[in-house]
Amino acid sequence: MIKAILFDLSGVLYEGSHPIEGAAKTINRLEHGGLILRFITNTSRKTKQQVLDELHNMGFQITGDQLFTAPEAAQQWCIANKLNPYCLVHKNIKPEFTDLEKPPYSAVVIGDAEDDLTYQNLDTAFDILNSGAPLIAIGNNRYYKGEDRLHLDAGPFVKALEYASDQNAIITGKPSKTFFDQVIATTGCNKHEILMIGDDVYGDIEGARKAGITACLVRTGKYQPGDELKLTPPAPLAKDVSEAVNHYLPAL
Ligand SMILES: [Mg+2]
Repeated sequence: MIKAILFDLSGVLYEGSHPIEGAAKTINRLEHGGLILRFITNTSRKTKQQVLDELHNMGFQITGDQLFTAPEAAQQWCIANKLNPYCLVHKNIKPEFTDLEKPPYSAVVIGDAEDDLTYQNLDTAFDILNSGAPLIAIGNNRYYKGEDRLHLDAGPFVKALEYASDQNAIITGKPSKTFFDQVIATTGCNKHEILMIGDDVYGDIEGARKAGITACLVRTGKYQPGDELKLTPPAPLAKDVSEAVNHYLPAL
C-alpha cells in the first residue's frame, strides 16, 4: 500500500505560472487523508522561499520541510565538503551562494544560469575544473517546458564541461540517487510504500526507479508522446497527477 508520495513540481502541479487542473484539490485531499507528501524539484531559477510562495499563491498548502530543492542540496554539498564554488547559477539563486562563492575557487556549481552561460564563463569554469576542482551540477535535465515550448536546460552545458574536463559531474538534484535517498529517508516508509509522480521520464521516473521506488509518468508538462517507451519496462502513464493518484490510491 502506498503511504508516501513524492511529487515533481513543474509540469506536475503547475505549468509556467498556472496550476494544473485538479492538482491542488488532489494534494489537499491526500494531506487530509494522512499521506506523507514530499515535493522535489530541480528548479534552479528560484529560491526555496520563492517556490513556496508561488505554490501557496496557486492554492497548494505545502510547508518548507516538505520541499526539497536541488539548489539547496548543492549549497549543502559545498558546505559539507568545505568548497568555495565558482557559481554559474541563475541570478535569482545567486544570493544563496554569496557566502560560499569566494576565490580561490575549489569547485564549480552549474545550474540554469541562462544568459550567464557564455563562452567566457564556461571557459573560466573549465580552467577551475582543470586544476582538479569537482563539477557540481544542480541538475542535468536536457530541457524544460516554458510557457510556450521546450527550452534548453543546464544538462547540455554540464555535458560540455564534463567532456572538456574529462570528469563526471556530481548531480545534487534529480536523478541523483543520493537526492532521492535523502528525501525517501524523511518519509520513514519502506520503499515499496512510496510512489513518485513526475513528467520527466529520465529525471523523475528513471531516477526514482534507480532509488528503488515505484514511479508514474504524467502526460502534462514536458511529456512528449512516446516518452514512456524510453525506459525498460515502459513507464506507467497517467493523464495527470489526479489520475495517477486515483490509480494508485483508489480507496482514498
Ligand atoms: Mg517536471
